[in-house]
Amino acid sequence: MIELRDEEVFYAFAPDMEPALTVAQGTEFTLITKDCFANQLKTNDDMLDDLDWDQINPATGPVYIEGVKPGDLVRIDIRSIELTSKSVMTTIPGSGAISDIVEASTYVLDNHDSVLSLPTAKGLLKLPLQPMIGVIGLAPNSQAVPTGTPGEHGGNMDCKLIGQGTSLYLRAAQEGGLFGCGDVHALMGDGEVLVCGAETAARLTFAISVVAGIDLPVPFLATPDSYVTIASALTTDEAYQEAVDMMSRFLTQTAGLPINDSGRLMSLVGNLAFCQVVDPMVTIRFEFPKNILRELGFVDM
Ligand code: CA
Ligand code: ZN
Repeated sequence: MIELRDEEVFYAFAPDMEPALTVAQGTEFTLITKDCFANQLKTNDDMLDDLDWDQINPATGPVYIEGVKPGDLVRIDIRSIELTSKSVMTTIPGSGAISDIVEASTYVLDNHDSVLSLPTAKGLLKLPLQPMIGVIGLAPNSQAVPTGTPGEHGGNMDCKLIGQGTSLYLRAAQEGGLFGCGDVHALMGDGEVLVCGAETAARLTFAISVVAGIDLPVPFLATPDSYVTIASALTTDEAYQEAVDMMSRFLTQTAGLPINDSGRLMSLVGNLAFCQVVDPMVTIRFEFPKNILRELGFVDM
């Protein structure tokens, strides 16, 4: 098995990253990822004051995919996500969208048996896990982008649909693409309003290849049920408009629908949703059901 350990991390998606691993297109490989705190919080007594803040959002990689050229559309198949047995959450006063948080805390939680065990003041909750990847991307075109920031290259999109069995499409800006990921969550709601999900170290398996003969607005996600455009911008207004425009381009240019058909369908069966509102840019997605396009003769990608 081709595997990259979690010592091989970077903190910015940069154009000139040195590859830590080289793999052939379509070949499965495994990345071991640390949680977004670089596994520094191990017990409820490990507080944020003790953190080395230079080690936030490590991404494992970069992985050089043979034959990937700048400008190529690249499909990243997420074959599996295996979580470790623990995850961690923090509350940070003044951080995130919940303005009344006043007390800093660390909560180390159990991930056993496909449930997250969450102690609350009113009793223990068992929440079904929904593993997802927070940070996933390729090297950008020109300027380095910190792993905590989302963008056209991917990065910290915190989209809860990026899970096992989905395919993420990005456009390579550099030779080999230079792929990396981290910040896996055992569970996270849309918005990530506390600035964290259930932050978990993980073991992930991917296969990556170039897609020829098709153009897609990126980042673009195909789940078993939906096509999803993902847009990040400084404001929610800009981000939702971009996500809508991207889906409109997909439905008209790739799926071949006239704009008015596409508009009617987007308004009837499409859904806008928040991915996250707490990173340096907000991320919003537009979801469109695959089965509608199948009915209209569009063959699944
Ligand atoms: Ca994140
Ligand atoms: Zn995270």
